[in-house]
This record gives sequence, structure tokens and C-alpha cells, in this order.
Amino acid sequence: MSGINNTEIRKNGTYQAEACDLTSDGSGICKIREIGDTNDTGGFTVFVDGMIPGDTAEIKIIKTNKNYGYGKLIKLISPSENRIKPNCPVFKNCGGCALQHMNYNAQLNYKRKTVESCLVKIGGIKNTSELISETIGMNTSHNPYNYRNKTQFPVNFDIKTGKVNMGFFSKRTHDIINIDSCNISYQINDEIISVFRKFFDGIKNSPKLAYDEITHTGLIRHIFTRVGFHTGEIMVCIVINGDNLPNDICDKLIVGLKRIKGMTGIILNINKEKTNVILGKTNKTLWGADYITDYIGDKKFKISVNSFYQVNPVQTEKLYNKALEFAEVNQDYNCESTICIDAYCGIGTISIMFAPFVKKIYGVEIIPQAVNDAVENARINNITNAEFIAGKSERIIPQLLKMNKCIDLIIVDPPRKGCDISLLDAISDAKIKKVIYISCDPATLARDLKILCGHGGYEVQKVQPIDMFPHTMHVEVICCLKLKK
Ligand code: SAH
Repeated sequence: MSGINNTEIRKNGTYQAEACDLTSDGSGICKIREIGDTNDTGGFTVFVDGMIPGDTAEIKIIKTNKNYGYGKLIKLISPSENRIKPNCPVFKNCGGCALQHMNYNAQLNYKRKTVESCLVKIGGIKNTSELISETIGMNTSHNPYNYRNKTQFPVNFDIKTGKVNMGFFSKRTHDIINIDSCNISYQINDEIISVFRKFFDGIKNSPKLAYDEITHTGLIRHIFTRVGFHTGEIMVCIVINGDNLPNDICDKLIVGLKRIKGMTGIILNINKEKTNVILGKTNKTLWGADYITDYIGDKKFKISVNSFYQVNPVQTEKLYNKALEFAEVNQDYNCESTICIDAYCGIGTISIMFAPFVKKIYGVEIIPQAVNDAVENARINNITNAEFIAGKSERIIPQLLKMNKCIDLIIVDPPRKGCDISLLDAISDAKIKKVIYISCDPATLARDLKILCGHGGYEVQKVQPIDMFPHTMHVEVICCLKLKK
């Protein structure tokens, strides 16, 4: 075979690379050949940041291992037909989104392909080409930018400039890229950033004010914002490594922030742990309310700081409608006797969407504040057949299934790590007729489907990827499973 093999790859050498796929963090997976060589590539794989499938480029090798290497994009030779100019000045360095250089349709196709690849390779699922639908994207009438209702800006002190940085972590590091605007977040964040920027710039050389994660000293760690899509209500939460902000600082920030239209609550969150987890458990309200409200369809929801709420409300509504459709629980079906479980229920959104159509729904959630929100949300929406239980799904649900033998349906919507095996076993043992699995990580979804479809006795009926996170590598998936006869 002609072409290049690993013994011939030279560090700092330049080669021609063709990208055929993407890594999970959005780098191009490429095959390389000598520039001008038209022979077989020899199969040497190089990861190159900034390349997308279909690109051919000149690259420089920066690191080699036995079977693969890393390269730097020097010059595009022939761009992929899906390549577009990224719509963001910090796209190259920011770790926030990885796909702004790929057109939106290609992103949607790529996400479906990722789901399929996980389901086949990890899940051992067959017939995926029929089972998995095209990714549901944001409509063209809905700009696939400025979709995020929640933003978390890290803050630190920059010794070199004597200034406080606020923005996003750069790719694969914890260096902060200062930004004035983020084009996937709601635009109102620009005003919030501006208030903090003015404030930080006014107090130069104040290392104690901003957090340093290496020495675990300094006060302000993150600025967390959440905005109601339909209500316009805004919450700003200042996460600090301490118990309080000095009064004069608090006053200045409150004066600046409460001028922003829609400001509903300014909250201090205490996080003194040495951790990458952004929010601590304790909050102090500095001004206004300690929650915002928003609507999904005609249902109203109260959302507290520590409670989970889907980040893209336009796509959330589509996700929940798909859940109703897959579960065959909506006005078209006669489900008055159905009893269901909403596992990992957050503030009870899915339970409250399902409740009008079923006899009873139990929501289970680990964060006590979210459970309190869920109870309040049921009350606000006049729902009386939803019951919320605080605790781990894997501990509570096996007990629920032992006590109540008539549960016909379970919706699981776990965090990225997927479901605990004891929950999957309890579902299979109870022979619940239908499982709706909502996932934000196709790899753990595939791992869990393998268990449910193996000894669990289920079969996958439909899989629907939904683009909840345009321009990022992430994809939401909803999957319908039925117990085999
Ligand atoms: N279904 C909700 C929330 C999904 S996010 C919605 O659509 O908004 C996942 C939720 O699971 C989060 O609220 C998180 O706090 C919760 N969670 C994480 N681990 C859990 C566990 N072991 N048991 C129960 N809930 C858990």
C-alpha cells in the first residue's frame, strides 16, 4: 500500500489532510497524505481543530502517538460544501460552541449520525436507519442563535492586566475569554455583562474580588443568569466563595442590574467548595424574588436557582409534545386509567404536561428545591393528580413499583451519566409496558438501551433526535421502548 504510515509521520511536518468525521469535542478526524500525493492515505489518523467533514487542508503535525496524531490547520485547500463563516468573533478559541463553522442542516444531519453510531456500536441496536428520524431542528422562523435561557460566566483575576475577566473558558483550558456578547444566549445577557464589566473595570487591581481556582481564594466565581422566554423575567445569581459580598459592592451591582428591563431577582449563591460544580446549595436573595416564572405551552412554571430547567424553551416544547405522542398520552387516546412515573422530574414539567391525560403521575427528583418547585407548579396549574417525591430515582422507584403494581408507563430523563442499573433492573422486573427515555447523551442512552433490550425484554420502537443545543456537539434524543410480547 502506498501513502503514509505512522513511522513516517514527522512532528512539525506539513501534510494534506481530509476530514471525514468529528470527535466528541468537534475537532476534525482526518486522514493525511503528503501534499500533492494522490495515492491512498495509508490510514494515519490526525485530529485537527477547526476542520469539518469534507474539508481538505494543509496541516502541521503538532503531536504524534502510535496510531494517531494531532495537527494544526494551516490553510484550507478545498473547503467542505457545508462550511460557513462562523457568526462569532471568539469562535476559534471559545470552548462554548464547536459547530458554528458548519451550516445548520449539516449540523442536524451530523447529530442524527452521531445518535445512530452510538445506538449501533454501543447499544447493539438493529434497524437504526428505520428507527431513527431526522433531527428536529429549530424552525427557520426561529433563529437558531440566541436560544439559550441560561448562561454561566466564569470570573477570575488576571495578574497580567490587573483586571477581572468575565466570559467563557477557552477550549480545553480554564483561561477565560472576555466577551461582551454570546450569540447563542439571549441578547439581554449583553446588558448584564455590561453592568458587571463596568463594575469590574472600576475596581482594577483587586485580586481578592475575583476567584482564583488554583489557590481557591478570591470572592466572585461565576455570574449565572436565567431568563423566562415567554415572561422576559430575569434572574442574576452571583456565585461567591464566601458568605457575603461587601455592602458597597452589593449596592453598586444591585443599582446597575435592577435597571435592566425584566430584572426579577438578584441572588447570591454561596459555593465555598473546591469544585467545578458551579452552584452551591445556599442562596441569599439580595433583591426581588428568588425565582423566575416561564411558560411551556399553556402551563406556567416557577424555577428556582438550583432547579434544572431545559435551556432551549422552543425545542423543549417540541420535546415534551414528542413525549406525549410517543407515550400515546394526549387527547387522541383514552388514558384515564394510566398510572405513570416521571423519573428525574426536575421542576415537574413533564409530569404537569402529562397529568391532564392520565389517572396519576409520580415525579421523582433528587434536588429538594426542584421538588418544592414541582409541588408549587402543580398547584399553579391546578393539577391534583401529580405527586412529587424527593430522592434518588434508583432508590425511590423500585419501592414505588413494589407498592403499586399498576404502573403502565415510565418516562426517564436522566443527566448525562444515564440511569443507574438498579433503576433499569426495577423497570424490567416490574414489566412496565412502555418506557420513554429522554437523553442528553447518546452514548449513555445506548448503554442503557442495551440493558433494557437485553435481559430487560424491551424493544426500541422509535428514536427522535432533537436539536436542543444548536452550534454545539450536544444532542437531545427521545426514544420509545415497548415490552416485547
Ligand atoms: N425532566 C426534567 C429534568 C431533566 S434533567 C426536565 O425536562 O426539565 C435531570 C434531572 O435529574 C435534574 O433535575 C437532576 O437534578 C435530577 N437528578 C440527577 N440525578 C438524579 C437521581 N439519581 N435521581 C433523581 N433525580 C436525579
